[in-house]
Amino acid sequence: MKKMQSSSLRLEQLNKTYDTFQAVTDVNLDIPGGSILTLLGPSGCGKTTILRMIAGFSNVTSGRILVDGTDISGIEPNFRDIGMVFQNYALFPHMTVAKNVAFGLQMRGVSRSEQATAVADALVMVKLSHLADRYPSQLSGGQQQRVALARALIIKPKLLLLDEPLGALDRHLREGLQMELRNLQRELGITTVLVTHDQEEALYLADHLAVMNKGRVEQLDNPLSLYDRPRTEFVARFLGVPNIFDAVVLDSGATGTTISLRGHAITLDRKLGLATGAACKVSVRPSHVELVAADDPRPGLAANVVIGRELGERTAYHLESGGLMIEANASRMRSVERFAEGSAVKLVFDPVHTVVLEA
Ligand code: ATP
Repeated sequence: MKKMQSSSLRLEQLNKTYDTFQAVTDVNLDIPGGSILTLLGPSGCGKTTILRMIAGFSNVTSGRILVDGTDISGIEPNFRDIGMVFQNYALFPHMTVAKNVAFGLQMRGVSRSEQATAVADALVMVKLSHLADRYPSQLSGGQQQRVALARALIIKPKLLLLDEPLGALDRHLREGLQMELRNLQRELGITTVLVTHDQEEALYLADHLAVMNKGRVEQLDNPLSLYDRPRTEFVARFLGVPNIFDAVVLDSGATGTTISLRGHAITLDRKLGLATGAACKVSVRPSHVELVAADDPRPGLAANVVIGRELGERTAYHLESGGLMIEANASRMRSVERFAEGSAVKLVFDPVHTVVLEA
């Protein structure tokens, strides 16, 4: 299939209320054409509701949905030029693969010969040409999802919406399809909105990643910035950071900020605009906490090893320091010293990856 339209998408002050329940609140997102926006968040945070409003299956309570600058919120779903794929495939069980894929063209009154050419192209694209005459019940989950994708793309939509498309597949199959989906999206250049609650999938399949919490976008960023610099405790926890600690600002300078974590000073090379003496929370990933011997000359936080688990590539430590539980990972690729359970150690925090969270 050839390159598709790369339409831009903009959500402006989008709100959705069901009776008295506010499911989506003041969502503003601006996505350039050709990229993937991924909505990530726990169950019930409003991801599907946003997708349904874009598709037109659910009315907007207030706000605007702009595709290439035109507000589509008043247009009937069938006339929005949007392809959608759901977790449960939603294929027509009584139709063959080829008929399922052709459906959108048939609805648009496209001639049979044009349909046949387009279906053949679409099936090549999802590597299913050999199964054109099968029925959905004769396909695996991964194959059914490829049919759903071909069916969504055959109309050459302006946007592709994917609602947990790989959620029903086992891990191995899901990883394979993630890669295919990514390649296909790049090749076609189609603007895509993906909903998932799987953080790894979100990091892999996003150009722009929006973490949602209770109907609001808590942080929008590129995946690596989000991973490295979560802004809030919610985002840090949702992206799997176990170490979130109370700290105090010792010194707030023009170029750096020194915080105290249980009396251990850590100097960050960032100006944070926090007052000296202010309480704050910090987040640090286990791989950014280094274990060194208790008599190491470097400054660090004294701790004891509670558990050290060998997990192949890394040793996962659980440590305790004055009642505080801390997790640290030591990569076994680097020949670092290993510490037995019960040993006294010192923890050195990587100042670049120690992040002060917003209150
Ligand atoms: P999940 O990952 O479980 O699909 P989600 O983030 O996609 O969750 P939504 O399906 O968008 O969440 O739902 C957001 C909230 O709106 C939920 O609390 C849900 O119960 C509520 N909700 C969704 N549809 C309706 C409806 N038709 N009437 C009333 N409340 C609804």
